[in-house]
Formats: sequence, structure tokens, C-alpha cells
Amino acid sequence: MIVVTGATGSLGRLTVHALLARGVPAADIVAAVRSPERAKDLAALGVEVREADYDRPETMAAALDGARRVLLVSGNEVGRRVPQHRAVIDAAAAADVELLAYTSVLHADTTPLALALEHLATEGLLRASDLPFTLLRNGWYTENYEQVVRRAVEEGVIDSATDGGRIASAPRADYAGAAAAVLTADRPAQVYELSGDTAWSMAELAAVVGEVAGVSVVHRSLSPAEYEEALTGSGVPVETARTLAGMDTDIAAGWLADTPGDLSRLLGRPTTPLRETISAFLAG
Ligand code: NDP
Repeated sequence: MIVVTGATGSLGRLTVHALLARGVPAADIVAAVRSPERAKDLAALGVEVREADYDRPETMAAALDGARRVLLVSGNEVGRRVPQHRAVIDAAAAADVELLAYTSVLHADTTPLALALEHLATEGLLRASDLPFTLLRNGWYTENYEQVVRRAVEEGVIDSATDGGRIASAPRADYAGAAAAVLTADRPAQVYELSGDTAWSMAELAAVVGEVAGVSVVHRSLSPAEYEEALTGSGVPVETARTLAGMDTDIAAGWLADTPGDLSRLLGRPTTPLRETISAFLAG
């Protein structure tokens, strides 16, 4: 049996669908979720829905009962994730699972990205446990830029402090496909550095958005301070603006540009090109 946590989230849901697409019978899949009432669509597929709240470790033993393999989808409450992930890891160890796969971040062990700290701590918990594990070190989702793309079509400009840095993004569905591949592989590797096949710059993003939408879009290259100011000026809270400017600084330094090809190898096909995902955003 394969258990997917966070299965009502975007990546978790897509992973359940990817497992089904790989031929895993629905009866062999458990969607472990915080709110079972929001998983009716998954139950309708024949998947078993179980409650699993990272903040309530007492829910975990029943959620993982009989599990052979588990995908731990990292939580989305930054600052609270290490104890949350520990609850799942402890329960998986107690259940003696054959494999726990964890969604980490690209180059979690060396990247300066602030959000990597909790991922690295979680990786440490896995290394200290007796669990067989696989790290799915996910690069950026292309969907992180969906709002940027929509605004660019309206306003004709994309601001960033990426300074020509490139981003090897892929849509969530590609990462979900890779997770499903690992969960069904005979002998998965311990670490995958997952990213899109082709890294793009913000200037290229602007050009592709312009072409797809049939409008003029330019990229405005700002310093981190200027970018932060532009964001707060358009209503973004100060803390968020600072975080986003910090991420752009890391992108400028190349930390999200790596294209080792692990993602397309796991998928058995090239990753989804930027243009295709942008077309999907603008068609939706
Ligand atoms: P979502 O926010 O859609 O999903 C996060 C999932 O975590 C949800 O199912 C949520 O449950 C679940 N969750 C949060 N807290 C708890 C809890 N206490 N107990 C049980 N479940 C909990 O994110 P995505 O699916 O898009 O991404 C998955 C993860 O990837 C994110 O959580 C984050 O760690 C990371 N991420 C990666 C990005 C990247 O570009 N690589 C970008 C953004 C995030 P519920 O459905 O009940 O809310």
C-alpha cells in the first residue's frame, strides 16, 4: 500500500492521479489528509481516505497502518514544519515502512535559500532514523509564476531582482509524476535533484508571455531594494516582499538554475516546456 500525505494539496492530489496513471490500483493507495471532508474527489476514485494531521501525531499510526511506501509532502506552514514532519517520520519508522519519500528542495544541503532550512532539518531526521528514504529535492514549480504571468499580460511588465539568473522550473504535475515513479520503482536512489530540463531567465519569461498572449511584455531588472519597494508599493506586505527579494537574490546567484536531468529521467520524457505551461495558464 502506498500512502500519500497532504493529498488534498496540489502536489499530493496530482501524485495520487499519477500513481493511478501508472497502473497502481486505487485500492492500494491511501490519501492521508488533514480534512477528510475535502477529499471526496479522491474517495470517488476508489482511493482510501484517512485522517493525518501533522499537528496531531496521534492521528499518524492509523493513517500509516499497513503502509509499504509513504510520500511525505512537506507542509506549507513555514516555521512549524520540522515537528510536523517528525510526526510522520516517527510513525513511518514505527510502521516499519519499506520507503519514505520526502519532498525537499533543490540542493537542500548547500543552497542559501531561507526556506531550505526546514527541509535540511527534515533530511537530518531521516538520516538519523532507520528508515529507508528517498529525497525528492524539488526545484521551483512553474506555477509559482502564474500570477506574475497574468499580471504581465495586463501591465506589460515583469519586475525582478534576478539579474539574469535562470530558473529550471517544471510544473507540479512533472514533480508529481516523478514522485509516483519513485514510489513504484524497484530500487529508487536516495537523492534526486529535480528540475526542468531548460532553465529560463525573467527576460525570456517576458518574451514567451508576450508571444503567447500576443502583447508586448518587457522585463524590468531591479536591484533587490528596488524590487522590494516595487512589491510593497503594489500592496505586498513588507515581510513577503523581503522574502521574495531574497529569493530573487538566490536566483541571481544561480541556485535554482541547475539542470541535472533527474526529473526527465524519472519521468521517462522531457519535462514540460515553459511555453506549454504558460499557454495552459492563459487558456485557463
Ligand atoms: P499545497 O499548499 O497545495 O499543499 C500542502 C499540503 O500540506 C496540503 O495538503 C495541506 O493540507 C498539507 N498540510 C499542511 N499542514 C498540514 C498539517 N498540519 N497536517 C496535514 N497536512 C498538512 O502545496 P503544494 O501541493 O503546491 O506543494 C507541496 C509542498 O511543496 C508545499 O507544502 C511546500 O512545502 C512545498 N512548496 C514547494 C514549492 C516549489 O516551488 N518547489 C512552492 C511552494 C511550496 P490541507 O489540504 O488540509 O491544507
